[in-house]
Amino acid sequence: MNELKPSLLDFTKEELLSKIKPSFRVKQIFGWLYHNYAETYDEMKNIPKALKEELAQEYIVNPVKIAKKEISTDGTVKYLLELQDKKTIEAVWLKMKETQLDENGEVIQEAKYTICVSTQVGCKVGCSFCLTAKGGFTRDLTAGEIVAQVVTLKRDNSHEHNRKINIVYMGMGEPLDNLNNLAKAIEIFKDSEGLSISGKRQTVSTSGLSTKIDKLGEMDLGVHIAISLHAVDDELRSELIPMNKAHNISSIIEAVKRFPIDTRKRVMFEYLVIKNKNDDLGSAKKLVKLLSGIKAKVNLIYFNPYPGTDYERPTRDDMVSFQDYLINHGLLCTIRDSKGMDISAACGQLKEKTQKDL
Ligand code: SAH
Ligand code: SF4
Repeated sequence: MNELKPSLLDFTKEELLSKIKPSFRVKQIFGWLYHNYAETYDEMKNIPKALKEELAQEYIVNPVKIAKKEISTDGTVKYLLELQDKKTIEAVWLKMKETQLDENGEVIQEAKYTICVSTQVGCKVGCSFCLTAKGGFTRDLTAGEIVAQVVTLKRDNSHEHNRKINIVYMGMGEPLDNLNNLAKAIEIFKDSEGLSISGKRQTVSTSGLSTKIDKLGEMDLGVHIAISLHAVDDELRSELIPMNKAHNISSIIEAVKRFPIDTRKRVMFEYLVIKNKNDDLGSAKKLVKLLSGIKAKVNLIYFNPYPGTDYERPTRDDMVSFQDYLINHGLLCTIRDSKGMDISAACGQLKEKTQKDL
């Protein structure tokens, strides 16, 4: 594999301060990176040429390039991004709320966006329903490659640096299997002189590595977690998520109970609904029992089929009955609206399609 050249986006401000002198240059460079989304040293107008040349010897500016993009009618934009070693990952720009205007056409509420980022090229977990898993695992992303996804998408969508944005770690890969780089990226996002995206605007989705949930909790980064639960008994969960054998449902529930969350917030449990597998009311009943005593919120996700899978999408009626059961038994529950349904919605699908096109 090619050596990856480090990028300026790999470093926290403190790390840059130890590398670059005088220190006010770091503030300026930070501004170029996170307020102007610079992709080249040429763009950094007020930085002396000699310093830029020196830095360019060791660091590239942004390690990702847009290789392909698909735009959905609902405002979702799905990106295939190419890394230095030509490997590709996906990131998605999601429009969560439309701009709201008053009767005079003045903006009263700006549109709200969320960026879904990848944390690995491929994934080791090997879930049977997931397209990303089919390609196996290639490598972890560096912190800079995680940060670059947000910078690149904000730049491409002309999203000003001080406008609020949410990040969900729900793209390709298992974030907690790349915990150190993930934690560093979270810190870089939080920097008030950079993108200033607070922990509570960042949600780490995990297939349930319970020991790593504890580690993330100990880091006290202030982020939310979302647990990809998908099943209420260990037998089915192990069929869907093989590593459930090592990190079973009760170990995950215990780890969630220990996780530091803002007392006003809830832990999100994602439940991928697959026809005739886990869409029955018996499962809904067990789910209520399992989550009793946790401040939880359930997000039901329609299984998104792709060529070659045996699993099927559940019916709308079954989905709504499942949701009604949970709500009637005191659980908060939403059905994820499948954004970008007219493009390649679920994780791994744009990459898969592109590889077939080649
Ligand atoms: N590895 C982490 C985060 C990335 S996957 C995790 O598993 O939580 C993000 C979400 O996409 C998970 O909840 C996963 O279950 C879901 N997903 C994967 N394949 C899917 C498919 N074919 N249809 C719908 N959702 C899918
Ligand atoms: Fe990995 Fe998440 Fe896909 Fe499972 S669902 S294979 S953990 S990316």
